[in-house]
Amino acid sequence: MSEPIAFIGLGAMGGPMALNIIKKGTNLSVYDIEKEKMQPHIKSGAVPGNSIKDTVEDAEIIVTMLPSTENVKSVITDPDGVLSFIKPGSIILDMSTIAPTGTDEIYEICKQKDIDFIDAPVGRLVSHAISGDSLFMVGCDNEGAFKKIEPLLNAMGTTIIRCGKVGSGIRAKVVNNFQILSIAQITAEALTLAQKIGLDLNTFKEVNAGTTANNGQFHINFLSKVLKNDIEPGFTIDLAHKDMGLAIETANSFRVGLPVGSSVQAVYGQARSGKFAKKDFSALLDYACELAEVDPPRIKKS
Ligand code: NAD
Repeated sequence: MSEPIAFIGLGAMGGPMALNIIKKGTNLSVYDIEKEKMQPHIKSGAVPGNSIKDTVEDAEIIVTMLPSTENVKSVITDPDGVLSFIKPGSIILDMSTIAPTGTDEIYEICKQKDIDFIDAPVGRLVSHAISGDSLFMVGCDNEGAFKKIEPLLNAMGTTIIRCGKVGSGIRAKVVNNFQILSIAQITAEALTLAQKIGLDLNTFKEVNAGTTANNGQFHINFLSKVLKNDIEPGFTIDLAHKDMGLAIETANSFRVGLPVGSSVQAVYGQARSGKFAKKDFSALLDYACELAEVDPPRIKKS
């Protein structure tokens, strides 16, 4: 990767993603409003920015990995944001999960300034971002721009899925997350019921794995997090609530009902009103167990 690259947003996902780019020998300028988030990158040789201006003014590719639509819009389009300082012909690669309408709006603004905007939201878990095994859903029909960002994606992940024109990546992400987050809640309810009626977790795991009830939330996510007694994020219940909101908002605007999704969204809404807000979304299990007055199940160390 020969182009100078800037990376903005070094949280649970952006932090390890940026480190994986640095590991491939690419020099990055990095920026996060929480300065301590930049420390691992500085130690690995990245150049820290004091502002968006000095982070991006020499860059030709700017990656954003920020929490919400409002954050991405503000970082890119505010008067002291990315678009005020980057050179025409540069590329903005937004990897955040935001509203598709937000992506479309930012794309139009970028186009007017001769900036290529690509959406490439990220699938899979923080553990995959750390190991460099993420999946990317790419919205981009400009082959020249895609060729420039492809090595970056290869440094951070194993799977690139071309979804179509700009905005198609984020649309795939929103729909896919709706499914993941709904299955997580069904899994939490099933395991709470199993616990309440006295099923052995290992035995139930075997039964479940042998049937079509088998799912990645139980067998990959919950088993590597909450069932191992780890409810630190990962992906917070707060962010999961945001993403269910994006799915429902999108569905509403196309007159598609998501009745199960709306109920699941209400559960995330309740769960985030208390101590679980900043916990991993697999902690939905502990929340469901708390309501059912049952000890949350944990997997025995073998
Ligand atoms: P996070 O809250 O851990 O990290 C976000 C980072 O952005 C923080 O370090 C924060 O300080 C920084 N930030 C916020 N506003 C900023 C600004 N104006 N300028 C610079 N930095 C700013 O969130 P995360 O879990 O890393 O998620 C980031 C995005 O990726 C979200 O859209 C999320 O939905 C999506 N996502 C998360 C996961 C996951 O498992 N955590 C997986 C796939 C996608």
